[in-house]
Amino acid sequence: MQLGASIKEIKANYAKMEQMARIDPLTQLSNRRDLMEKIMHQKSFADRNSRPFVLALADIDKFKNINDLHGHDCGDFVLVSISNLLKEIIRKQDIVGRWGGEEFLLCFPETDMKGGQLIAEKIRQSIADKRYVFNNVSFNLSITIGLSLYSSPGNVEHNIKQADIALYQGKENGRNRVVTYQA
Ligand code: GH3
Ligand code: MG
Ligand code: MG
Repeated sequence: MQLGASIKEIKANYAKMEQMARIDPLTQLSNRRDLMEKIMHQKSFADRNSRPFVLALADIDKFKNINDLHGHDCGDFVLVSISNLLKEIIRKQDIVGRWGGEEFLLCFPETDMKGGQLIAEKIRQSIADKRYVFNNVSFNLSITIGLSLYSSPGNVEHNIKQADIALYQGKENGRNRVVTYQA
């Protein structure tokens, strides 16, 4: 009986550790590892069925200023706020995760570039429309989003690079915009 309970406990702890290895502790979004697994799963589906999907790399504009002006805790608050907003806006089948620092990677399954642009623009607009309040200080935020279309059979790493190139173009051209990768 004693031993049985212990095994149950070990199993529960193991499941908890498994979960922790996949979730970013600050934002509670998928971390890079979990995100890539989910996207590769989507790629398998897309390849089997000759279906497209869109990858979106989103980066908070001038985020360093937030940390510098209002402190690191405020920066963390912004990361959590944006993460919650992303979760609220996307559909159930969409994938989102924290790619790194203040960058998020999203995947919109069964979506062509026109659909990707629509959802990305909705995300950009929602973030820009909101007023953020932390410790009695209020401010606005914006993000820039780079988009890339996966068409099967393809290479997800190439698509992420393409989304990053589009994102960089968006930063160069003034930020707070959605840019589609053009070969
Ligand atoms: P850009 O518009 O070109 O993207 O400028 P930026 O300031 O957003 O970009 P930059 O790469 O210069 O700065 C990113 C900052 O993000 C620097 C780093 O200290 C901060 N950062 C990364 N991870 C975290 C985090 O978990 N919490 C907080 N508070 N800050 C973070
Ligand atoms: Mg960045
Ligand atoms: Mg940034």
